[in-house]
Amino acid sequence: MMLFLELAQTFKEMETTSSRIALTQFLVELLKKTPVDIIDKIIYLIQGKLGPDHSSKELGIAEKMVIRSLSIVTGNSSNEIQLLYNRIGDLGDVAYRLRYNRVQSTLFQEHLTVEKVFDTMVKIANTSGTGSLDLKRRYITSMLNNSSNLEAKYLLKLVLGTLRLGIANYTLIDALALSFTGDKKNKSILENAFNLSSDLGNIARILAKGSIKDVQLIAVSLFVPVRPMLAERARDSREALNKMKGECFAEFKIDGERVQIHKKGNQIELFTRSLENITPHFPEIVKMFADENTDNFIVEGEVVAINSTNLKYLPFQSLMKRKRKHEIQDVMEKYPVLLNLFDLLYYNGQDTMELSFFERRRLLEDAFGNIKNDRLKLVDQTKVSTIDEIEKFMTKALENGCEGLMLKDPSSRYRAGAREWAWIKLKREYSGTITDSLDLVILGALYGKGRRVGKYGALLLGSYSKTEDTFYTICKVGTGFKDDVLTALSNRLNKLVIHKKHPRVEAGALSMDVWFEPNIILEIVTSEITLSPVYTTGRNLIKPGYGFALRFPKFTGNVRDDKAPEDTTTVDEVLNIYSNQLKQ
Ligand code: AMP
Repeated sequence: MMLFLELAQTFKEMETTSSRIALTQFLVELLKKTPVDIIDKIIYLIQGKLGPDHSSKELGIAEKMVIRSLSIVTGNSSNEIQLLYNRIGDLGDVAYRLRYNRVQSTLFQEHLTVEKVFDTMVKIANTSGTGSLDLKRRYITSMLNNSSNLEAKYLLKLVLGTLRLGIANYTLIDALALSFTGDKKNKSILENAFNLSSDLGNIARILAKGSIKDVQLIAVSLFVPVRPMLAERARDSREALNKMKGECFAEFKIDGERVQIHKKGNQIELFTRSLENITPHFPEIVKMFADENTDNFIVEGEVVAINSTNLKYLPFQSLMKRKRKHEIQDVMEKYPVLLNLFDLLYYNGQDTMELSFFERRRLLEDAFGNIKNDRLKLVDQTKVSTIDEIEKFMTKALENGCEGLMLKDPSSRYRAGAREWAWIKLKREYSGTITDSLDLVILGALYGKGRRVGKYGALLLGSYSKTEDTFYTICKVGTGFKDDVLTALSNRLNKLVIHKKHPRVEAGALSMDVWFEPNIILEIVTSEITLSPVYTTGRNLIKPGYGFALRFPKFTGNVRDDKAPEDTTTVDEVLNIYSNQLKQ
């Protein structure tokens, strides 16, 4: 048993720091005193979830409902609370203020425990149907009745999803290694287990109950998504071929959505590259696999929308319409999809990730090569060993509406979650000026002027460093936003506002009107990468006191909802583009 008050106190301390080292230290202390049987719950709560990404449920709690509960518990009117909320901006902080005035009878109070809070949140998430709103409100009211003002503050931040501690998975992994093995070096074992199972709560439980050796035994399993293998980018075919040591497979690089498909018997599930379960978005893919005999596998492919008459690939945005549940039938007819399979991670009860890419492709052909369904194919592939062959295949890919090529080392194994030179993406544009886009995360904003009063004017964008687990600033962008897109984006950003710069952001002396939790990724094009004393990406790498900046950055209109913040273009990639541009 652990008192919720203890957790609330740690959250309070964590909120006062912007230093990652200090955050890790707080985490270590917390993990060390957490009873083993609830360590997974503590991990999920810190991540603001109720389970791993692929199975964590939403609580479905509206602010109005919380305001009503607060009014019942404190005796303040809903109107008063709403006004305070408008001023302060967070209902947890509102509860903290209100409850100072509360006259309470401690006689009937039960002490709130972490177990109780977690289990009640699970109940709330599982409540649906008629009367569910009432029931949810009663759960919240009852917890509020048993909490002090500090507990109420963090309880509400948890149920509303506004707890923003700035703790990334990598920080949690560091803290777990330190707490249970005393050595940060063991983090690579934890990271590997995380890449295979995507569930830090479970890893923490195994580690706390057993040892690091038990974590080493964690293997890939069906219906638990594997973190996808990623590609490096090369400037041109020559560089790519050099990296591939003169010979490799070239595949069409299709601009769709990456899906990982798991099947056993009647159960078929689809996951995105950020591990979200999107099975309901593609009923026709589920049916397609249900109709086939091939069973017991995990495959990866790129799903792309096609024009129903000429079968040509449609832009990535056409897939976004799948997000609206009630329109699926309609969308299925208007925007049918084609699935291009490119990898096999698990087959007939065996982990195939250890096999070479050459062998995996052979197995993929055995398993799916003969399927007679015109909506499923293996991605176009050919063996290349000269620049000329790559160029020819590139032309063919572009003619077929692809973005470019993926080059793959035939001897490489599947490295979950890793971005390495075993896979290289090659787009035609890399060799010219920078017409290739960057995927940058929104970190802050300045308020708008003129037509944009009341909205955000310029957005501060950043790159990412995996080794530092830090976001670095790179430019401000204000062009390329259509009015409706800007409004929708502003609404989403309002929910991500934090009262000071995020602990994982390095912004130097730059000051902004608002800071956000790094979450939304925009696709940006630029004319050139320059050096600037203002931004922190790659600061001091080329010239003391200077970092990289984008010249004339412009939003392409594409919000990369399929990418997690850690998929942001990295500092190394920016350095690469910068160096290549000098060579031109
Ligand atoms: P990027 O999103 O630009 O980093 O490029 C990597 C993405 O390309 C992958 O995550 C896939 O979604 C997509 N892709 C398209 N075709 C292929 C392919 N043949 N092999 C691997 N990934 C592919």
